[in-house]
Amino acid sequence: MLKKFLRDAVNLIVGKQAEEIVDLLDTNNHINEFILAKKLDITINQTRNILYKMSDYGLVSSIRKKDKKKGWYTYFWKIEVLKSLEFVKSDIFKKINQLENQIQKRETKRFYICKRCNIELNEENALIHNFICRECGDVLMLKDNTKVVREMKKNLDKLKRDLDFVEEEIKKETEKIEKKKLKELKKEERARKRKLKMRRKRRKEKKTSKKTKTKIKKAKKKVKKPKIKKKKSPSSKKQRKKPRKKVSRKSRKKTLKKKVKTKRKSKKLKKYK
Ligand SMILES: [Zn+2]
Repeated sequence: MLKKFLRDAVNLIVGKQAEEIVDLLDTNNHINEFILAKKLDITINQTRNILYKMSDYGLVSSIRKKDKKKGWYTYFWKIEVLKSLEFVKSDIFKKINQLENQIQKRETKRFYICKRCNIELNEENALIHNFICRECGDVLMLKDNTKVVREMKKNLDKLKRDLDFVEEEIKKETEKIEKKKLKELKKEERARKRKLKMRRKRRKEKKTSKKTKTKIKKAKKKVKKPKIKKKKSPSSKKQRKKPRKKVSRKSRKKTLKKKVKTKRKSKKLKKYK
């Protein structure tokens, strides 16, 4: 039933020769356009023309995939069920409106016919021609509309039933889409939570690894530094620097005094000489 309406939609847009494509296109999966062309037994360009016309009305959608070896893109098509149904719905709506208008006219206005030529005129035109047929000159007769109106009302009922069906399908399809969206949202939410959890876990791991590292560092410090403090660096510094300086100063002073003494001695010696 759904496919019948989809076929009607394609028939309205592209023409009867393209109806068959509806049976080949899927409502769930995208189908390779070359496969469609092959199955329809038409060229790829003819196939694309049909699909482009349909996509102008949103009845089909496509995705493209790149051929890794050849480097070109191949298009894959699928029926957009909701858009197609809405297209069909608006078409049925239009037909219902037209039919209701006609029924109203038939019920409120008079029509005249020539039974021989099967020509029908409304009251105004019949009056202009003095109720005489333009073709054969016979007298026009008042038409009994009851049969026509009954037929029209039957058609109207059928259209209304179709409309009900299409509206029901639209409802189902929107529910389906909403469910799908909700499912995707939930999936995204789950993925987001998983990411967060992983991030937290990683952060924790980093912290613990830092702690253990610092612990190791501290342990190293505790082991190494005391050794350095007590034995090597400070004591050696003190021993090297300060005592040497002191020694050197004292020695300098001593040597100076010695020098002076020797000078004096020499002077004294000179005097004696
Ligand atoms: Zn006539």
